[in-house]
Amino acid sequence: MDFEKFFSDKLEGLHKEGRYRVFADLERRAGMFPRALRYTGEDAREVTVWCSNDYLGMGQHPTVIAAMHEALDKCGAGAGGTRNISGTNHYHVLLERELADLHGKESALLFTSGYVSNWTTLSTLGANIPGSVIFSDESNHASMIEGIRHSKAEKRIWKHNDVEHLDQLLSEYGPDVPKIVAFESVYSMDGDIAPIADIVAVAEKHGALTYLDEVHAVGMYGPRGGGVAERDGLMDRIDIIEGTLGKAFGVVGGYITGSTKLIDFIRSFASGFIFTTALPPHVAAGALASIRHLKASPFERARHQDRVRKVRAGLDRIGIPYMPNESHIVPVMVGDAAKCKWISDILLDSYSVYVQPINYPTVPRKTERLRITPSPLHTDADIDHLVASLSDLWSQCALARAVA
Ligand SMILES: *Cc1c(COP(=O)(O)O)cnc(C)c1O
Repeated sequence: MDFEKFFSDKLEGLHKEGRYRVFADLERRAGMFPRALRYTGEDAREVTVWCSNDYLGMGQHPTVIAAMHEALDKCGAGAGGTRNISGTNHYHVLLERELADLHGKESALLFTSGYVSNWTTLSTLGANIPGSVIFSDESNHASMIEGIRHSKAEKRIWKHNDVEHLDQLLSEYGPDVPKIVAFESVYSMDGDIAPIADIVAVAEKHGALTYLDEVHAVGMYGPRGGGVAERDGLMDRIDIIEGTLGKAFGVVGGYITGSTKLIDFIRSFASGFIFTTALPPHVAAGALASIRHLKASPFERARHQDRVRKVRAGLDRIGIPYMPNESHIVPVMVGDAAKCKWISDILLDSYSVYVQPINYPTVPRKTERLRITPSPLHTDADIDHLVASLSDLWSQCALARAVA
């Protein structure tokens, strides 16, 4: 086998389809977000980032940085082991308590990322509960899909946010079949929000366990940043709430929250939790500071929503079509992979505006888009510049505008 040829042929295929991924080489500057330096070879230029998942700019928050410095100096660089073998640091314990409280649950469990928390928890449940069936929303994140697949449990896919379809699929199984319903609150690419109350009601009717990914909502929704389920008063009706420390909380890591027994079960049986080095203590300390800050401060959430409204109003003014939704995500629809990439390249090179193109397989073909994520730190001038730049390129690309 000529491995090198195999790899280069596969990569050539991606290039031909216009979906070969090119990373922007960025240097984030604490205190300057959403500004960053972008490197091209030896050269570095300032750009404005419009596609970060550091939704609230907490990655540079002085309180978070100070907490991380303090813990780094106190504890050193790494955790020094798996959670079981010397790696449980007091910061992990405090953080798990904080997360349980955030979601109104008895317990929480940390993972090295949100991806790992989804993958590991769903695969552990599906593999260990005999005869279980997992009901998965068709738009679920790759981490859930892969975890469910690895579990080898039976999987049924329900149409996106279609509660009737979910009910129908659940009805095919008797009361003795263990059922798990897995879904998200805010879907990251369309920015739509699940009808959580209805999904929970159907799951309760069938005695199903509910698993909710709040990755794109924690920190941003609810009076304390507990997510959409907190906002809607539904946290106590969901069995497992999963989240990330890497998006609105601005650090890195993932977690689940639930009953003491459920968390103890995952802690005790999940390979992806047990056999890996714990998060560095200063990472846990930074996440802890970030969560505590956002629990008490509604300012970032309010300003965030205000900036989102302002971006949408600007796009409306010049007739640039975006997918309407109730969240903070503004998907500007291009519908063509090559044009999407081209617009993104010119925005970056000529306008110093960085929005990564989102192409297949992250989204379906013909729905290629620029996924814009405003933050509380984008100024009016930043928004005006973004809108004017897009207007220029829309004309150059002869893309359709919405009729005003
Ligand atoms: C980003 C993402 C994850 C993974 O979280 P990480 O902490 O980045 O690994 C999980 N679920 C959804 C819906 C996501 O968008």
